Amino acid sequence: MIINLPANFRYGDKECIREGILKIPSHADFRMLMYQLAIANKGKKCWYCGRRLAHSEITMDHLYPQDLGGPTISDNLVPTCGKCNSSKNNFTEQQYQKMIHVDEDTKKKLRSIYYRQNEERKKKGFVLPKTWVKQKKIDTISFSLTVGDGYRGKQYNRIAKFYRTYHHFPNPVIVDKVDQLLDGFPLLIYAKDNGIEKVPVIKLDNVEKM
Ligand SMILES: [Zn+2]
Repeated sequence: MIINLPANFRYGDKECIREGILKIPSHADFRMLMYQLAIANKGKKCWYCGRRLAHSEITMDHLYPQDLGGPTISDNLVPTCGKCNSSKNNFTEQQYQKMIHVDEDTKKKLRSIYYRQNEERKKKGFVLPKTWVKQKKIDTISFSLTVGDGYRGKQYNRIAKFYRTYHHFPNPVIVDKVDQLLDGFPLLIYAKDNGIEKVPVIKLDNVEKM
């Protein structure tokens, strides 16, 4: 997929966009960079209530919630105030928009309907645009195994538990235009440990890790 990029974008003191490609500095924290890119794209207003936010007030909401496979990429992130973020919770943007302008009783009803819907969806797969995700063989993804066992921790266990329960992965991994891993290391380790050949991947075609 092609992510939205502003005309200019700096990470630290480095200009990161050249010829329409986001060049990620090798030392950069990918998630932090995606947060900053979302702010550069969408401004410092709460996405839901419209309130102007001081930098320290900004929280990041995943439009497609992480609980349903929503990735930490700038197109899936919006700046929000803490209040809106916590009341949106694990609902999709579409679901939440329907809950904003209704009375408390209706809100309660919708919450429980959507909650059940989402639990059902989770069993089947993630709720993401089909064009975002492809199944790819692990050996086409370049990532370094040198960090080893340190990654078999909390994230790894969460993935293991989810996979054993639902027989698919809780989220896609993210790679750049030349298939270098950007996010999702524990998932790849889990797949390797268990002889699973293909994993769900979101490929960012206008991003390259340097
Ligand atoms: Zn708000």
